[in-house]
Amino acid sequence: MARTRRPMIAGNWKMNGLRADALALAKGVADGVKQAGWRDREVLVCPPATLVMAVADAVKGSGVLVGGEDCHAEASGAHTGDISAEMLRDAGAGHVIVGHSERRTDHGETDAVVRAKAEAAWRAGLLPIVCIGETLAEREAGKTLGVLEAQLRGSVPSGATAAKLVVAYEPVWAIGTGKTPTTAEVAAAHAHIRKVLGGLVSDAAAVRLLYGGSVKGSNAAELLAAGDVDGALVGGASLKADEFLAIAKAA
Ligand code: PEP
Repeated sequence: MARTRRPMIAGNWKMNGLRADALALAKGVADGVKQAGWRDREVLVCPPATLVMAVADAVKGSGVLVGGEDCHAEASGAHTGDISAEMLRDAGAGHVIVGHSERRTDHGETDAVVRAKAEAAWRAGLLPIVCIGETLAEREAGKTLGVLEAQLRGSVPSGATAAKLVVAYEPVWAIGTGKTPTTAEVAAAHAHIRKVLGGLVSDAAAVRLLYGGSVKGSNAAELLAAGDVDGALVGGASLKADEFLAIAKAA
């Protein structure tokens, strides 16, 4: 079954990028992916909303996929400053990250909100990447697996299938810190996530599970080789084409 899960390397650019730099980055990634000619893995970039359309244009024909970093649960309406899944789709996105820990922390997003956003992604024809992960305090208290289970149960909408869902395990304490769990810890978390998905998704064995948190070119091969890891969600290292491509190569 593992080989039916095509690895995905996703870049989360966060609140970074003005047009000139972002387009150079997108072009660098697109050129690298085109040159590599990968058919056995997916490479996704998720720029800030202002750049989705320009990046989608810049990577056209390269095989690079484009996604949003977040979406609102509603399709339209009085939600100043927000972006709907339909708008992302219209701008050229095919994917959207929902429930990133920075959204959960900065914007108080609950599991119910994340779930509604994943449903919005489906409504718009986008593939949601649902993020979950424990804080350092939760890990130190031995609560990691319980936290992941609760977040999954709260954030994954009913009716999810492997074709409609990607899950990213991102320990909050590993994001942007240079710290990573051991491969055994990653494997244990992913095995538990897959087990819990067994009760939520009809084809749980086929759902892609990404690891995220301080992945870079130098540690990608080791982290991606951990059990049940089907790719990576990459923040900082996705802002340099060479580094991001090195991670994609390791997949
Ligand atoms: C992220 O924000 O999704 C992330 C994994 O960040 P970083 O790779 O910088 O730790």
